[in-house]
Amino acid sequence: MAEVRVEHVTKTFGDFRALDDVTMDFPDGGFFGLLGPSGSGKTTLLRAIAGFLFLDAGRIRIGADWVEDVPVEKREIGMMFQSYALFPNMTVADNVGFGLRVRRVGAAEERRRIGEALDLVRLGDFGDRKPHQLSGGQRQRVALARAIVTNPRVLLLDEPLSALDKALRVDMQIELKRIQREIGITTIFVTHDQEEALALSDKIGILKDGRMIQAGPPREVYRNPIDIFAAEFLGEANILRRPGGSLPSGGVIHLPATATDASALAVRPENMTLSATEPAADGLSKMSGILAQRVFSGALGICLVERDGNVVKVIARDEDLPDIAEGDTVWISWKPEHTIVIPGG
Ligand code: ATP
Repeated sequence: MAEVRVEHVTKTFGDFRALDDVTMDFPDGGFFGLLGPSGSGKTTLLRAIAGFLFLDAGRIRIGADWVEDVPVEKREIGMMFQSYALFPNMTVADNVGFGLRVRRVGAAEERRRIGEALDLVRLGDFGDRKPHQLSGGQRQRVALARAIVTNPRVLLLDEPLSALDKALRVDMQIELKRIQREIGITTIFVTHDQEEALALSDKIGILKDGRMIQAGPPREVYRNPIDIFAAEFLGEANILRRPGGSLPSGGVIHLPATATDASALAVRPENMTLSATEPAADGLSKMSGILAQRVFSGALGICLVERDGNVVKVIARDEDLPDIAEGDTVWISWKPEHTIVIPGG
């Protein structure tokens, strides 16, 4: 296994900067979730690490080796993409063993490693099947076995689960995490799905316009977003105040000690509480509004409260919500420590 370091990497396509001076450490044996809007450079960063691109500037280290001049096949990387295309006319075992045959490891060694990889993805009895005799999730696991059978130093996954339906996707997330832990492989995982990234990753990074704007453990980034974009991109955020703007009128909002005029303020919807009357407890921040919409989504109740033309979203366990109906005046309150100070605005 190996740590990966990307240092001042820039990649342009014509005039367009797809990666703009990206520096990042991907920890040895860690699961790194790479997030960002469409076109932000996620796939380009994976392709740069894999070796499919010439860099305009910067360098890349895998383990102890600087690899920017090393060809793809010598970087010892396993890859799995959304369109993971198994060979339809080959058996599962032959699909998994493809990379081993290219490397000429010998028939006995090949059989042993294919068996191990298939056991790892729990498809030990499926080696003789053809891809069309498998379910979507099983095919995905074959692709994963194929990616790891050569004992790569790094595993690159580009939206590997996005073609699966929700239930299967959640099963595969658990499976992927188990396998990653079991073999301890440094993994970089691109996803559009913030919840997926938060659930799986030891560390996440957010790309925007080719720049890595923030990275860290999921909780840390979620709780301390660097700017409003990060706050709204990762989860949901009620922006109470923009830099230089004013606080909502009425109500009581306790300002954290670190807040300055240049910082924005936000509260996560799940940290707000709704009540039918003004909460009496001391020390809470609070404001009133009109309940514009209340949505029941099973476990959770989602409430949209309108005040001064702005909408504040509150999410709670549905059974914890008071007896309130659309059109009622309601109070929103939260603990002062839940007011997030966003330094970059
Ligand atoms: P998505 O989430 O939609 O897959 P992404 O974050 O993975 O997006 P990239 O595929 O890395 O984005 O692309 C980043 C930008 O670089 C895009 O604007 C894309 O159009 C551009 N780009 C990528 N590859 C090329 C190429 N070979 N030639 C020209 N432009 C490219």
